[in-house]
Amino acid sequence: ASREMHPTDTKIEFPQTTVGPGHFTMIAGPCSVENEAMIQQTAEFLMGIGVKMLRAGAFKPRTSPYSFQGMGKEGLEILKRVRKNTGIGIVTELMDTENADIVEEAADIIQIGTRNMQNFALLKRVGLARKPVLLKRGMSATLEEWLMSAEYVMAGGNYQVILCERGVRTFSDHSRNTLDLSVIPPCKSLSHLPIFVDPSHGTGKRPYVPPMALAALAAGADGLLIEIHPDPDKAMSDGAQSLNFAAFSKLIDSLKMLAGPL
Ligand code: PEP
Ligand code: MN
Repeated sequence: ASREMHPTDTKIEFPQTTVGPGHFTMIAGPCSVENEAMIQQTAEFLMGIGVKMLRAGAFKPRTSPYSFQGMGKEGLEILKRVRKNTGIGIVTELMDTENADIVEEAADIIQIGTRNMQNFALLKRVGLARKPVLLKRGMSATLEEWLMSAEYVMAGGNYQVILCERGVRTFSDHSRNTLDLSVIPPCKSLSHLPIFVDPSHGTGKRPYVPPMALAALAAGADGLLIEIHPDPDKAMSDGAQSLNFAAFSKLIDSLKMLAGPL
């Protein structure tokens, strides 16, 4: 993962878009796959505004075992159908090695969540995958620990790793997590890997998402991961931090003023 090994920035090409130098890449979608209609509707909305990657979890790492755990395999089937219907790229989380094959098949990017950043068996497994990996920073991981986790994936032969800052635990209680944008410049100087920012989990609160998204772009991020929902107040997970379509379109317009075409 180090620049000493690989001085030029990593670039990852998809049929829909490119991640890496010269590109600012948007990934957006609901926290969870809830049903086929909402995924299809979200994908059509995103493609209509030029966002070509959709995020949505079929397997959800919920704090409470009594909360909605995701649609599982059925959720992956929905994602596959919507990808086929619309051409949108799919970003979805893998939580365990057991489901690696089916998640790899459904995903264009395999997400590893904050709680699994140091699940070394899982990292070794996605090191063998033929799909890029979005590696979220552990909620109390140092930059070095995070890069070492990227190293686990790369050591298996999968060099397509995208880092994603999603907020860390601090004493601050005004937001769900503390979005550590200050990690971007040191990360860029140490590593050639692209770094994304998730201001949705980083703040936990809808009104704070757009300003932190703009700040992430200004700080040097290569892209954003943002939660949106057709009706956020009815979301089955993370509604409080999800933008509706109108608010997301407005954010896209502001980002374009800073970044140019996305
Ligand atoms: C998510 O992206 O919905 C998620 C669970 O993220 P994190 O692992 O950052 O909490
Ligand atoms: Mn979420």
